[in-house]
Amino acid sequence: MDWKIPLADLDINQEEEAALLAVLRRRWLTMGAETEAFEAEFAAFTAAEHAVAVTNCTVALHLACLVLDLGPGDEVILPSLTFVATANAVRYTGATVVFADVISEQDFSISPQDIEAKISPRTKAIIVVHYAGYACDMPRILALAEKHDLAVIEDVAHAPGASLNGRRLGTWGEVGCFSFFSNKNMTTGEGGMLTTNDAQIAARLRLLRSHGMTTLTWDRHKGHAWSYDVVAPGYNYRLDEMRAALGRVQLRKLPANNARRQELSDCYEELLSQMAPEITVPFSQHPGQSAYHIRPILLPAHIDRETFMANLKQRGIQTSIHYPPIHHFTEYRQAAAHYHLPVTDEIAAREVTLPLFPQMDTTAVNEVVTAVRFALLD
Ligand SMILES: *Cc1c(COP(=O)(O)O)cnc(C)c1O
Repeated sequence: MDWKIPLADLDINQEEEAALLAVLRRRWLTMGAETEAFEAEFAAFTAAEHAVAVTNCTVALHLACLVLDLGPGDEVILPSLTFVATANAVRYTGATVVFADVISEQDFSISPQDIEAKISPRTKAIIVVHYAGYACDMPRILALAEKHDLAVIEDVAHAPGASLNGRRLGTWGEVGCFSFFSNKNMTTGEGGMLTTNDAQIAARLRLLRSHGMTTLTWDRHKGHAWSYDVVAPGYNYRLDEMRAALGRVQLRKLPANNARRQELSDCYEELLSQMAPEITVPFSQHPGQSAYHIRPILLPAHIDRETFMANLKQRGIQTSIHYPPIHHFTEYRQAAAHYHLPVTDEIAAREVTLPLFPQMDTTAVNEVVTAVRFALLD
């Protein structure tokens, strides 16, 4: 379908093309100097001590769970209102997923109060998701973690460049997991990054990313090593040089693109309050600096969402839902049967995501909000 206003779009131009071509002409395509440079630049950008590039955010989450020694018998508390990868990654390790509710219709972040209610003697870690780029209540969550001796993993897939109290998201917990999937704020097609301030964790991440081998093909190519040992049952979760080159360009563009997302998101908020005051616009007045990954809204309870979305589709406007909550999926339904997640259920039933991407202009925002106005009348 050719959308007049798509949900998201890429900022890819000659800069990415030139960076890719340069890598191809250098004739070294697997993890090497370009990836090292990308990691160094990403670490500097987030003010993290270490950044480790990987194939995608899902494997970043898997490695984060592994380096925190999560396994069978352990419980991990996370929101159900997230992409399924956040929960799947926990289950790769054999650990048990425990869902906590989110705060309110105004704040879709995991609720510290419900985290505390779900802590058991088996709880080992909390995974927070900075929904749409808005910070979770990290001071309260870290205090809880300290009190109960729990590790904290941040799913920062929506929030590269976002911060709270002047500290970047992804550097509050033990490990931060970023995504460079195609529709994220910066993209390498598929790609991901881990951040940590713990040198030992960083070393284990690097080891597990590449088969548990003590040296890399790249080290051997440079003549620094000629053999290797294997000290863990690792994986091949490496990023390649083409993606790293794309990532370096996209990272340079990120601050301006996030600022543009903020302008457009503010424009949405203002127009929605004028033209469709019955719509709930979450995260207004939210603390910290968001990355404005998506523009979620909540429909009034009496509006049929399917009809509403079809109405916008007819006008060439693409919308989405973030998210069908994980505890509703067949795979998770049985295990989640005893969960009481009333706020998540309410949001999941009424949420619609409107188009938001840096190349959009305010005329397009106006057109979307006008379409929302008409769809509400239908
Ligand atoms: C996109 C996303 C992921 C998965 O990222 P991939 O890089 O596609 O593996 C995980 N969590 C959240 C919240 C996401 O939005």
